[in-house]
Amino acid sequence: SLPSPEASDERLEQSSSSARIELLCFVRDLLKKIKRRVMVGDKVLVGSIDWVDRRGMIENVFERNSEILDPPVANVDHLLVFFSLEQPKLEPFALTRFLVEAESTGLPVTLALNKTELVDEETLSSWKSRLRSWGYEPVFCSVESGYGIDLLAFKLRDLTTVIVGPSGVGKSSLINALRSKNNTDSNGTDEDNWFEPILGSKLFETQRVGEVSTRSGRGKHTTRNVSLLPLSGGGLVADTPGFNQPSLLKVTKHSLAEMFPEIRKMLSTNEPARCSFKNCLHLGEPGCIVKGVWERYQYYFQLVDEIRIREEFQLRTF
Ligand code: GDP
Ligand code: ZN
Repeated sequence: SLPSPEASDERLEQSSSSARIELLCFVRDLLKKIKRRVMVGDKVLVGSIDWVDRRGMIENVFERNSEILDPPVANVDHLLVFFSLEQPKLEPFALTRFLVEAESTGLPVTLALNKTELVDEETLSSWKSRLRSWGYEPVFCSVESGYGIDLLAFKLRDLTTVIVGPSGVGKSSLINALRSKNNTDSNGTDEDNWFEPILGSKLFETQRVGEVSTRSGRGKHTTRNVSLLPLSGGGLVADTPGFNQPSLLKVTKHSLAEMFPEIRKMLSTNEPARCSFKNCLHLGEPGCIVKGVWERYQYYFQLVDEIRIREEFQLRTF
C-alpha cells in the first residue's frame, strides 16, 4: 500500500524532490515469464512497496538508452578505461584490448593512467605522445597523491560511468576517492537524484537499480557482483570487480577497424576515397587507403587473427 505523505520516510519529508531510498525488490513473475531481465542501472517501476520492511515489487522495466553486457549495466553514458603506468606496468597490447572492448560499446571512452608518481617526466611525456598517436588524450593521475583526481571527477560528473581495467591498477582506490571527495562544485548531496519517487501516483519510479547479482559464464559457481555507487560530485560509477578480461565478443573482423581511432581518422580524412575492396580488412590489400606507419598495426593484425579464428570456430559449432 502507498504511504500518505505524512507517514512516509523522514528523508522524503526533508526533500520530496530527490532522496535516496533503498528497497529490496523482487521481480514480478510476469516479467520473468516474458524474459525481461532487470540489469544494474535499469529504470524500473516499483509497486507494492512495504515501507516497514523496505520491500517492493518491480512491475516494469523502462526502455534502456544503452546496454553493455560485460559487465552487464544498463543506461551507461561513459566508459573509463583505467590502467596504471607502473605496478602493474602499462602494457600496450593489454591496453589496446581494453580500449577495443570499450569502443565496441559505441559509448564515449576516456582513458586514464594512474600511479604517475611512480614514473619520471620523460616516461609520462613519451606515453602522452604515443597515446595521442593512437587517438587518445589520456588523463594522468595518482590516487595516492591526488594528482589529476579533480579532472577525473569533473569528467565523470553527472554521468553513469563504468570503469574497466586490469586488477591492481587502482580502480577501487579511485572509486573510494571519488565517493569521499569533498566536491565544493556540487550543489547537492552525494545522494542527489539517485532515486526520485513520484508521490501520489500508484507506482513509484526508481531511477536506478542498485545491485544485481549475475552468475559468471566463465568460472564455475562464481558470482560477480556489479553495483552502481553515487559519486560525491554527482553521477554514478559502476563497481565491477571480476570483470577484467575483455572478451571482444561484440567485435567482428570487419568492425574491428572502427574500434581504432587512428584508423577511423585515416578513413575519414581520405574521404571520399575508399579502399578498393568493400570488405577491406586493411591488411595490405591492393587499393587500401589505410596506409602509413601506425604503431598499433601489429595489435590490429593480431586481433583480426584472433577474431577470425573465433568466427570460424563459431561457424563450425553452431
Ligand atoms: P584494483 O584492483 O584496480 O581495484 O586496484 P586497487 O584499488 O585495489 O589498488 C591496487 C594497489 O594499488 C593498492 O595497493 C593501492 O593502494 C595501490 N594504488 C592505488 N592507486 C595508487 C597510486 O596512485 N599510486 C600508487 N603507488 N599505488 C596506488
Ligand atoms: Zn583498406
